[in-house]
Order: sequence, then structure tokens, then C-alpha cells
Amino acid sequence: MSKLVLATGNRGKLAEIMEIVAPLGIKIVPQSEFAVPEVAETGLSFVENAIIKARNAARHSGLPALADDSGLEVDALHGAPGIRSARYAGDDRDDQANNRLLLSRLAGIPADKRTARFQCVIVFLRRPDDPVPLICHADWEGRIVDRPKGENGFGYDPLFLVAGMQRTSAELSAEEKNRISHRGRALAMLAGQLRGWMAR
Ligand code: IMP
Repeated sequence: MSKLVLATGNRGKLAEIMEIVAPLGIKIVPQSEFAVPEVAETGLSFVENAIIKARNAARHSGLPALADDSGLEVDALHGAPGIRSARYAGDDRDDQANNRLLLSRLAGIPADKRTARFQCVIVFLRRPDDPVPLICHADWEGRIVDRPKGENGFGYDPLFLVAGMQRTSAELSAEEKNRISHRGRALAMLAGQLRGWMAR
């Protein structure tokens, strides 16, 4: 069986990714099993940061590596919080503080000008110096509401009104969200690409 290391400490992401790649006969090992040190996400794009994380995991584990990088892009804020989504309100990854800050930055902006989208990039590297990283990208359109709604999900989900639905992403079940979300669709693409990689 092929083994891959996953460059995340997030259990939710680990479970989602395992579910998608397990049917391919691929075993996913979290990077915590190799004591992979944290790496600074110094890139200017989701793609660069995902590559930095995957390269770091591949280097310290000796295995092919997967990493994802994601965030929220708000048009009225010229794309912020973007690659800083997890730490928008400060370095401690506090979802509630991030949501409060986002709402305050959008105060007074009318509903039709609050368009936004989630972005997700997933990178697969065969080895740390892989010159052809496999890159899967998907986005998810919506709008930022003016008060939180819903209990599911994480991060900005309670503020993200899904395009074409009258619900925020925190009002979707995990299955509903995975079917249509930026991460769910990027992972589905990855599964297709990995199948090709396994067949080689
Ligand atoms: P990452 O873990 O470094 O990729 O950080 C991504 C950040 O973007 C998260 O901490 C959230 O703030 C935000 N984010 C990404 N995907 C989602 C999602 O599906 N729902 C809500 N927030 C998300």
C-alpha cells in the first residue's frame, strides 16, 4: 500500500482527506507521527504556502506529502483576509475574534456588495524537490451576512451565506458541505489525479 504524509495538525482535515483517499488503497499518516516541525507560511499565495507545508512534511518524513491551504476572499476588502484568514485578528487562530473583526470591517456595506469566496489549494509532492507539484484548486462563492448563523463547521462558516442557498455554511451538514465546498471539490479532483499517479 502507498503511504503519504499529511501536512496538517487539524483532525477535521485529516478525517476528510482519509475518507477520500482510503478507497484508492493509500494510507495517510499525519505529520505528527514524524515530529515534523512547524514551518513559517511565508508565501504570498495559497499555492506557495501549500507547497511550503508539503515540502516540509516530505523532507522530515521521507514520504510523498499532501498539504492544503485555504482561506476566505472578500471583494469589498480587496481579497482580505485571504492567505491571512486563520490569523486575521492575531496570531492565535481564534475563529470568534476573526469573525468579529470581519463583521466590523464590513459594517455599513450593503448585502449586494458583500460578495466573497472560499479558496482551497491542495498540493501533492512526490519528494521534497519534486519539480512538478500536483496542484488542485477549487473555490466556493457566497456572501458575508451581518450576524453569525448556524452551529456546524468552523472558521468563517457562520458568516458565509452559500450562493444559491438561503443558508450559511454553518447550517449545512458535513456531508452537504463536503459535496459542494471548496475543500470537498479540491479533494475530489485530487482523488482523480492520485488514481492516475498510482497507476503509473
Ligand atoms: P489553513 O488551515 O492555514 O488552511 O487556514 C485556513 C483558514 O481559512 C481557516 O482557519 C478558516 O479561518 C478559513 N477557512 C478555510 N476553509 C474554511 C471553511 O470551510 N469554513 C470556514 N472557514 C474556512
